[in-house]
Amino acid sequence: MTDALHILKVALDVPLDRVFDYRTDKPNTQIGQYVVVPFGARKMIGVVVGISDTTAIESKKLKSIIRLDPEVIFDEQSFKLFQFCSQYYHYPLGQTILSAVPSRLKKINTKAMAKKYLYRLTPKAIELGVDQLPPRQTTLKRIVMALIDATLLDEASLRSMSSAWKKSIETLDEMGWIEKEEITLDDKVYIQAPIPSLNDEQKKAFDEISKTNKTFAAWLLYGITGSGKTEVYIRLIEEALKKEHAQVLVLVPEINLTPQLESRFRARFEKYMLVTLHSHLTDNERLTHWRLAKEGQAQIVIGTRLSIFTPMPHLSLIIIDEEHDASFKQQEGLRYHARDVAIFRAKSENIPIVMGTATPSLETWFNATKTKDAKKFGFLKLTSRAVLDSTLPEIKCIDISKSTVTKGFSPYLVEAIRDRLNKKEQSLIFINRRGFAPVLLCSSCQWTGRCHRCSSRLVVHLNQKRLRCHHCGHDEKMPLQCPSCGNTDLYPTGLGTQRVEETIKEFFPEARILRVDRDSTKTKEALNDLFLKMKNREIDILIGTQMLSKGHDFPYLSLVGVLDTDQALYSPDFRASERLFSQLMQVSGRAGRAKTKGEVYIQTTFPNHPIFEALKTHDYENFANELLKERELAELSPFAFLVLLKGEAHQLTHVMQFLNDAMINAQNLSTHVTVYNPVRPMMERLKGMERAQLVLQASSRVALQKLLDEWVPYLRENKLGQKVKWVVDVDPLEF
Ligand code: ADP
Ligand code: ZN
Ligand code: ZN
Repeated sequence: MTDALHILKVALDVPLDRVFDYRTDKPNTQIGQYVVVPFGARKMIGVVVGISDTTAIESKKLKSIIRLDPEVIFDEQSFKLFQFCSQYYHYPLGQTILSAVPSRLKKINTKAMAKKYLYRLTPKAIELGVDQLPPRQTTLKRIVMALIDATLLDEASLRSMSSAWKKSIETLDEMGWIEKEEITLDDKVYIQAPIPSLNDEQKKAFDEISKTNKTFAAWLLYGITGSGKTEVYIRLIEEALKKEHAQVLVLVPEINLTPQLESRFRARFEKYMLVTLHSHLTDNERLTHWRLAKEGQAQIVIGTRLSIFTPMPHLSLIIIDEEHDASFKQQEGLRYHARDVAIFRAKSENIPIVMGTATPSLETWFNATKTKDAKKFGFLKLTSRAVLDSTLPEIKCIDISKSTVTKGFSPYLVEAIRDRLNKKEQSLIFINRRGFAPVLLCSSCQWTGRCHRCSSRLVVHLNQKRLRCHHCGHDEKMPLQCPSCGNTDLYPTGLGTQRVEETIKEFFPEARILRVDRDSTKTKEALNDLFLKMKNREIDILIGTQMLSKGHDFPYLSLVGVLDTDQALYSPDFRASERLFSQLMQVSGRAGRAKTKGEVYIQTTFPNHPIFEALKTHDYENFANELLKERELAELSPFAFLVLLKGEAHQLTHVMQFLNDAMINAQNLSTHVTVYNPVRPMMERLKGMERAQLVLQASSRVALQKLLDEWVPYLRENKLGQKVKWVVDVDPLEF
């Protein structure tokens, strides 16, 4: 033995559950630094996770690192989080860690970063107003309107409005309309916002949560939209930041991270440094913000799901807004749920976590109200809207089995829209397409095929003329006659946005109509445009498949029409009614936010379904409790824990063989876990790949995890893995 070796254990983004040894000549390397290393013929970014003076690798084969960056990017707490995620989601540690490295760092050559600015209108601009802008300058107009709305915007927000924002800002600058300020560590640039005094329920929530502000506690803050949850968060953050060193992390769904929300926080926290982390930032901006958080300088971080992995040395409080939102679950790579990871993190750092929502996920609802032993989560309620003169909309069901429906519209709904047009108010037509799956329906008695083994509806597979259960694999011939009444008119249901738009145009040729769906709102630009157009009454009828985000009130919107909820009532996905409820609650919330009284018309063949009863009385609690009973009977989440193994290959036989192997192995591993047969998912074939999946179900999370500990390595060893692409999804949200 000559000199002691300096061996770095490096985590890399490769699908192998191990770390890699490299030699270094730098004796004082630290865990958490990042490095560039040779890997095969490539260079890769890695993270140092261990330092040793021994290695099992022959010295001839041992390679040296290429570059060591002085920056320590992850601390001890971060590694705890990665360990947990890697173990719980059964995803290789290296890939877990590398999913949390800002992508800017992964690009091997880093450039210096540009200065950043915030923009606001000059008093002159505010006095003159949008009308004084040259006609046809839509981008200019859009930016000025947004600045009027939000007071102060950063470059990321402006960029999200138009790709030509720079030119517009220059023009506005020449006109003397705009002021800019460099973002510095101690910027103090925000307008004073009026601070409401808390009402009794808000005060109670604040007091209760504050009592636990030094240790771990999980809280559900349950309150309808507009009940003042955000105000409670703000007070809690203020309280947390009274400590000398403190940081707060606020997680929000991507679609809710609007310039309005950001500026509301900025206005209230002008003394503090606030940064955002979301996908509309450039890689450079994201890295800058991330570093400010990591260095403990940014006291408030508002971000989307990935920001749960941001190192924050003084983290004192985590807030999750819209806790139930499905976007907190990552659907590829490391399939984590940011809420669950956040709870783990809060526990591990011994700090409180507050989850707010109007429609809690059933899992959270259960944890806050129902667990047998002591409740897991504290439970706090806000029951009325915080602003006095705003009221909840009135919800009416239109029984479409009893009225003549023209192209999806009942005459009541058409009349209601006409009435709004006459009154120069706005309407929103909402189509629920999420979780859509064709279900066979009897036109006379409303019979629909149900699986006898699961609480789910059978899905129509038209090509094969079969009905299938997507949970357990049950499969039967499509009936030619209704098994219940003998009627031969059975049809699969479905309505598309484009068809609806055409129909509306026919009904109301003069109306200004805008259709919003996933395709048309891909860019934030389009979404922002929409909000401004609604505000300026440039739209009469909005047609949409997804809810419009929080923080955007449409003061002239007084009618919401909901077209085809019944699909969701028959959906094979057991979470469909939970989602439908929260969606309908949110869209309903769009109507009548200001003084105009709102109305919601829901077209359905099941006007007496409990979901509508609950909606009419705005009673989530009862509804959730009923759903919980069903879930308990069906042994589904939160009473059972699920794991989904999904596979795809060019040939179906390969997938099936792989899944069958996996099934037999799982059955042998544990008697406490139910292993279902492999089934084809809704989307049987995707991009030329044949797909299939199987479900594991257990009432004990520990038993399930124990099985996975042996099962996943077994799957990795399976030779068929070369032909079959597979993933394990722990706590899947979608099947
Ligand atoms: P949520 O987050 O539950 O949707 P917000 O906190 O955004 O509710 O509150 C809705 C509106 O009510 C906001 O305009 C907010 O400023 C206002 N508000 C909140 N709390 C109060 C209060 N105690 N008194 C008066 N207005 C309030
Ligand atoms: Zn029938
Ligand atoms: Zn079934």
